[in-house]
Amino acid sequence: PLPVVAVVGRPNVGKSTLVNRILGRREAVVEDRPGVTRDRVSYEAEWAGRRFKVVDTGGWEQDVLGIHASVAAQAEFAVEAADAVVFVVDAQTGATDTDEAVVKMLRRAGRPVVLCANKVDGQAGEAEAAYLWSLGLGEPHPVSALHGRGTGDMLDAVLAAL
Ligand code: GDP
Ligand code: MG
Repeated sequence: PLPVVAVVGRPNVGKSTLVNRILGRREAVVEDRPGVTRDRVSYEAEWAGRRFKVVDTGGWEQDVLGIHASVAAQAEFAVEAADAVVFVVDAQTGATDTDEAVVKMLRRAGRPVVLCANKVDGQAGEAEAAYLWSLGLGEPHPVSALHGRGTGDMLDAVLAAL
């Protein structure tokens, strides 16, 4: 079976945009309205000659658990079935309480995590990305899922973690 990479993070950080960028095509549903992905959706992807499955997550933020718990619970569900995790944070917004809730879960889960500092559309955003070292998940990889900036380096890190 192919190794599985789960893409997790709170609504609207750009998970589905990143998945589309990894696939090189548009399949994951992207909308300005948060939480459009109804369920975990799995796609086959390839990078540097290696094939893997990439799992998009999202869409539980209306859950009765409340935002922090539901985002973390959904991420946990996907992470349990994954060999590596891409944790996406919006570098323009910075880390929120919901992000911290996911970080706690990721520590417990014990899977390799690649920290994706998304929405770094230009050089100017690199400084914001550096603040995400404070999450304690190692090096933040500055990425623009929208424009493709930095995604290759991030995928190299993902494959190295598999
Ligand atoms: P998800 O809820 O985490 O799956 O987020 P989406 O992929 O649906 O994206 C939410 C919004 O963020 C959309 O309007 C995207 O166009 C926007 N977005 C995603 N990636 C980037 C990025 O790298 N830069 C900028 N500026 N916007 C982005
Ligand atoms: Mg989505």
